[in-house]
Amino acid sequence: MNIIHARGLIKEFPYQGDAVHALRGVDLAVGRGEHVAVVGPSGCGKSTLLNVLAGIEPPTSGTVELLGEPVYALDEARRSALRLRRVGFIFQRFHLLAVLTAAENVELPMAEAGVPKAERRQRARELLEYVGLGHRITHRPPHLSGGEQQRVAIARALANKPEIVFADEPTGELDRRTGHEIIDLFERLNADGTTLVIVTHDPHVAERARRQVEMADGLVVRDAGAAADAAPPPPQSP
Ligand code: ADP
Ligand code: MG
Repeated sequence: MNIIHARGLIKEFPYQGDAVHALRGVDLAVGRGEHVAVVGPSGCGKSTLLNVLAGIEPPTSGTVELLGEPVYALDEARRSALRLRRVGFIFQRFHLLAVLTAAENVELPMAEAGVPKAERRQRARELLEYVGLGHRITHRPPHLSGGEQQRVAIARALANKPEIVFADEPTGELDRRTGHEIIDLFERLNADGTTLVIVTHDPHVAERARRQVEMADGLVVRDAGAAADAAPPPPQSP
């Protein structure tokens, strides 16, 4: 069953009276439980694709079905609710709030979703333990290392039990060893049933995904390891 089904994605950004063609016709299907890496040179459209797939940025044309919902046909309230409750997003630069503790950062999406305070607290603690930060619950981001901040961001992305997590260069700010620890965590998350779509420059990160989608100049140019039900049907025998 497809969790993402994107068809004919074109994205143009107006630029100095002209247009930048960030996506030039992308079709992509991702099945439930997949672990997909999106790779390709800088500027080829990876972040744009991720944002369009995640319901953050509407395409110029084309359609996205995310978790069975036609994302850009929904009104803004329903689209926000879908993102808040069923999707997680992880950024290269963590995007944590510096004035809040690790636990408070993790609680934020739960508060937005109306989860009661006691339940929020409990779940934030469990999530921080899950990402290996049970001993840093009351620390604020400026007092955490880059790897620790990314773990908090992962815990926050998991707050409302998303079915799919998108990550844009999640190891881009980290040294190699810390990056590997983050990827170990992603692997565990995938083994626990969460679908992952991760944009990465890092070949070590990409090779640990079960499927690599390679982009160049706004197009998917190679798709290795696609799930059988997302692949085209085999040719008919004569
Ligand atoms: P990648 O993540 O692969 O490095 P991006 O998706 O960020 O690539 O960008 C693809 C292309 O679209 C680039 O040429 C980039 O300069 C352009 N682009 C991305 N976002 C914008 C924007 N908001 N306005 C104008 N051009 C943009
Ligand atoms: Mg990018």
